[in-house]
Amino acid sequence: MNIFYPVSGGNEIGASCYFFHLGDSKIIVDMGKRYFGKKVYPDFLTLINKGFIDGLWEIDAVFISHVHLDHIGGLINYIDELVNANIYISAESFELYKAVLYCNLKKTDEKLESFFMEKINKIMEKTVLLYYGEKYNIKDLQVTCFKAGHILGASSILIEYKDRKILYTGDFTDYDLEAVKAQQLPKSLEVDILISESTYGYFENKINRKSDELNFIRRVKNIIDNGGNILVPTFALGKSQEIALILKKYLNNGILPNNMHVVLDGLCITYSLIYQKSGITIFNDNINIAKSNFHKKINNLSRTIVITSSANMAPYSRSYYYYKEMMDDSKNKLFLSYYRDEEYVKEKYINKFKRNQNTYFYRIATHADVIGIKNLIEKTQPKKVIFVHGDFSSKNRNNIYSLFINFFKDIEFILSLNNKEYYF
Ligand SMILES: [Zn+2]
Ligand SMILES: [Zn+2]
Repeated sequence: MNIFYPVSGGNEIGASCYFFHLGDSKIIVDMGKRYFGKKVYPDFLTLINKGFIDGLWEIDAVFISHVHLDHIGGLINYIDELVNANIYISAESFELYKAVLYCNLKKTDEKLESFFMEKINKIMEKTVLLYYGEKYNIKDLQVTCFKAGHILGASSILIEYKDRKILYTGDFTDYDLEAVKAQQLPKSLEVDILISESTYGYFENKINRKSDELNFIRRVKNIIDNGGNILVPTFALGKSQEIALILKKYLNNGILPNNMHVVLDGLCITYSLIYQKSGITIFNDNINIAKSNFHKKINNLSRTIVITSSANMAPYSRSYYYYKEMMDDSKNKLFLSYYRDEEYVKEKYINKFKRNQNTYFYRIATHADVIGIKNLIEKTQPKKVIFVHGDFSSKNRNNIYSLFINFFKDIEFILSLNNKEYYF
């Protein structure tokens, strides 16, 4: 009996962690951290209590789709127990992978630094790099990764067992982003089971990336033309590079004025430099790295956009310092993402900005929407589709399940639940 079991990351965005038992092999795909809710890490006790494993030493391999913390943040906690498993990740992810792990370390207590350092070294020793399109054998499985779009190095993972094919999308985009191209699967890939992310799977309307981008730029131009500054607290890895590159495009084509400046701060700098090293040029005369204590100088400037890591706008985060400095001036604006993905600012913080005249809510998507997922189903022709990485709690909206069961009559659809096993 083959089993798929979301340890976490089934009916939620965060803590992505999926167990597969296929033939003689037991593998885990992704091991992430939770952004919302109390329990931060995947809880493998449920897997043990159900008798699927006696301990993590039984795991043969861990595959990581990409380096967002909701997909790798749990590795540090479980690396000691994964004695028989290597960790497989795309070679394109490697520099970001190191940076994400080490940057997390820096944030922790100094006393714990050597403790975490030891864990990270262990992760590094066990890491095996994957090359896109190459098949890797893990016992009786063959595993291949393909570019997923989304962020640099992201993979969709194909698992083949006997004559069965299972595709796990990971976080993916079916359209080109500024920094990375769309998901790239083999032309005639048909699978038996598709396990798809569904971050934007509860909206009926197609995301219109172009009009979202234009709305964003129109608003930026308006504020800049008025001599104001803009604060964009955002997800440092992926989203901040995307926003910087969109601004760069509109600076280059002359829609945004050449006398404006874009400044990146916090972890946005670290990750952007890695993007840049991999050939995706972000910085130029108009797009720069913040000098130290830049937030104290921002009010002496005009026509400047600061992109910095959001950290939920929590007190004493970098974004909060900027906010404190900038928002007394009504010419300045705060740009927040209103879309509930990984970078969504928690309600408890967002409520105070909703009432604020200085806040503008925008959307720059970095996930496939309902139509993108539908196209993938049509392309891969699965018999069964299991949705993960989605928040299906929103009762007032049509979710992807109710849309698709009527559209694809011959396919079985499952909205996966955490800690529930699915047999196939
Ligand atoms: Zn992601
Ligand atoms: Zn994710």
